Amino acid sequence: MMGHYTIRAATQRCPDWLLRVLLRDSRAGAGRTDASGRPIDLESVGSGVAVDGEHPLCGGPKREPMSDGSRAENAAMRVTLLGTGDTTGTPTVGCDCETCGLARDRDLERTRFSVHVENERTDESLLIDCSPDFRYQFLRDDVSLPDAAVITHIHFDHLDGLGNAFRIFDSLDVYAANETDPATGESVAETVSSKYDYLEAVTVRPTEPLASTAICGFDVTLVPVDHPPFVCYGLAIEDPFSGAKLSLSGDTSYDVPDSSREVLADPDLFLADAIVPAHLCEYHPLGGRHEGDDGVPRTFGTKHMTREGALALADDLNAERTRLVHVAHFYPADEAFEEPLALDGEEYVL
Ligand SMILES: [Zn+2]
Ligand SMILES: [Zn+2]
Ligand SMILES: [Zn+2]
Repeated sequence: MMGHYTIRAATQRCPDWLLRVLLRDSRAGAGRTDASGRPIDLESVGSGVAVDGEHPLCGGPKREPMSDGSRAENAAMRVTLLGTGDTTGTPTVGCDCETCGLARDRDLERTRFSVHVENERTDESLLIDCSPDFRYQFLRDDVSLPDAAVITHIHFDHLDGLGNAFRIFDSLDVYAANETDPATGESVAETVSSKYDYLEAVTVRPTEPLASTAICGFDVTLVPVDHPPFVCYGLAIEDPFSGAKLSLSGDTSYDVPDSSREVLADPDLFLADAIVPAHLCEYHPLGGRHEGDDGVPRTFGTKHMTREGALALADDLNAERTRLVHVAHFYPADEAFEEPLALDGEEYVL
């Protein structure tokens, strides 16, 4: 299904420094206001705020997406890239490399990984991974708090933000795979349960990989990928009504099993782990692997895809559109902000 994208075509042609400005202006309605002085959202749905219910503790109004009556006919999957960086993010704390310097100068950033997926049809939203930057991301991008979350694996940059659920949610379903990880003797679901057992609002939902689960009105399927030493999962998220499909590689080498590739195939939007460009493999103690016909490594070390590997996987999967995520500050400055590397705050409507 062909989606349309709120990262407007113009931003794809813009100099990098303009991208952030455009993203911010588009979310603010580019300065246009309605009769009551509120900003008009250019997409006509989704970014307003209405009072609906109370915050469980402070009694203040919860922030919710505004329904303006056009929701049913325009219902869509709205994808916001909250965090597009690797485990240290860009800029990296304490780093004065050229790439981090450029990011600071241009006000560009890649915080730790997280993706917000709003179902405008059901008025629910799903969070993919709980970034340690959770609080900052939700304040910055002004998206609705999620009704459910999925945890792809137990690394810090994907899980440790779950502690932010404390006193923020009255209930949050957290979906995670139910398969035992030989490296830990526990499934991801069990690790999440034991690590966050103090969070009464959180209910962990052990989830069968390679089987579709209904979450927030979407059909969500966890697929095993390759991220040693731990199990890790990519995701396919489909709207059963519109056919819109978002696929995420998860943290993975290029060696994604065929059964997982079948589930991820033919997405409208593919978010692919591309931690570094392939030419940096010479600096990894284990080098690169999974070389293509051109001899270029598609895996950096053992855990992540190179930029070239991510693009090759996107091609294998016949992705309509691809954004490269989980991007490290190790990209040289002249490559770090080139297309199709994603930046925080990008928004797509499928
Ligand atoms: Zn740096
Ligand atoms: Zn990881
Ligand atoms: Zn990661």
